[in-house]
Amino acid sequence: METPAQDITAPAAIYEIAGRRFEIGSPGFADAVADAHASHQRPRCLCLAEGVEMYVARLGEGYIVKRMPDTGSHHAPDCPSYEPPAEFSGLGQVLGSAITEDPATGETTLKLNFPLTKMPGRSIMPPAGGEIDSISSSGARLSLRGLLHYLWDQAELTRWHPGFAGKRTWATVRRHLLQAAEHMLARGDALRARLYVPEPFSIAEREAINARRQVHWQHAVPGKAQHLMLLIGEVKEIVSARYGFKAVVKHMPDQAFAIDEQLYRRLGWRFEPELALWGASDDIHMVMIATFGVGRAGVPAIHELCLMPVTRHWLPVADGFEKLLLDRLVDQNRSFVKGLHYNLRRGDRIASAVLTDCDGSAPMLFIGRANADESLLGPETGAAGEAPIWRWFRSSEPMPPLPLPRAHSPQPAPRQAERASGTALTAAKGDDG
Ligand SMILES: [Zn+2]
Repeated sequence: METPAQDITAPAAIYEIAGRRFEIGSPGFADAVADAHASHQRPRCLCLAEGVEMYVARLGEGYIVKRMPDTGSHHAPDCPSYEPPAEFSGLGQVLGSAITEDPATGETTLKLNFPLTKMPGRSIMPPAGGEIDSISSSGARLSLRGLLHYLWDQAELTRWHPGFAGKRTWATVRRHLLQAAEHMLARGDALRARLYVPEPFSIAEREAINARRQVHWQHAVPGKAQHLMLLIGEVKEIVSARYGFKAVVKHMPDQAFAIDEQLYRRLGWRFEPELALWGASDDIHMVMIATFGVGRAGVPAIHELCLMPVTRHWLPVADGFEKLLLDRLVDQNRSFVKGLHYNLRRGDRIASAVLTDCDGSAPMLFIGRANADESLLGPETGAAGEAPIWRWFRSSEPMPPLPLPRAHSPQPAPRQAERASGTALTAAKGDDG
């Protein structure tokens, strides 16, 4: 049993259910949530005086309290249910179109712009021209990168609290990714069944780990129409093999992924900035999401892939400037949410981060080119009309001082385990320690 890595102290969220106030997990909470589900009542989160409507969904044998779709920004910035306004990341473009959440079932349906079934030919070749790294500018369907960003967001790996320092291991990352995928459907199938995230490797467990992997990969065995699997893992290296090329993934010493020459050749220019950052910084991990099939010889072959550099705390960074900003935020013990592009193009402006430890509205942090037009670097004010905007015109000026955190002691760190899957607050299951 792994340690409950990011579970620091109890969350502060309090709910009003049928006129009574409950802290999560307090006596009577599970019953109240079950009653609310039966009578179609909506609990209210009391992070703000007026309360914010939530809903109850079934989860296995129990129930979960979730925020209503697209209401994360209505919560107080330090509430476990808080999310930055969707329009400050790429989420706004895909929410409600490529991503639809059903409050009746608690399930999220994803539309994908890449196949999960083997197509004739070899690896997937995106059309030539423009910026093509598994990104589509349309918000109707998620690109491979959009899916990775959504999972990372839902797994709350885009959030940082000083209490997480030193506790976010691969085992934690994996557990939260799998939890996040639990109630997602894609191409008519449970995403969880198609998603492979390598287990933390141990020599003692080697045989058992390999056996579990073989079982999971049965989905990908060639048949009439071969299903593809999804891999999320950390790249160790992508190198030439005796024949063709291969990606070696950390925690998988016994099994590399074949890459054909065309795909390998394209990696260099499609992901040039990501690979440059990885090469230049020893403390950057390279995360890969890929679709792969398993051939008759049992060798997994990648069809399409996307790369995402992350810091040593697994926070995604687009470039060296974002890395500087995130390193500073972590060094200064700040709490924040990292913004992600999803389907948006690299040049489209999003907030690099949103600070969640300030008084009032959460400040949005934008980074732009030296002579960028201010209007391209985020709006004058935030969604609520009052969020402060911080701008750094990189390379023409040193990083400006950051908005100050609130003076009084911050709230205790929320338990990440209870916030996975859209603030899924487990009523009957307790935490996943
Ligand atoms: Zn709240």
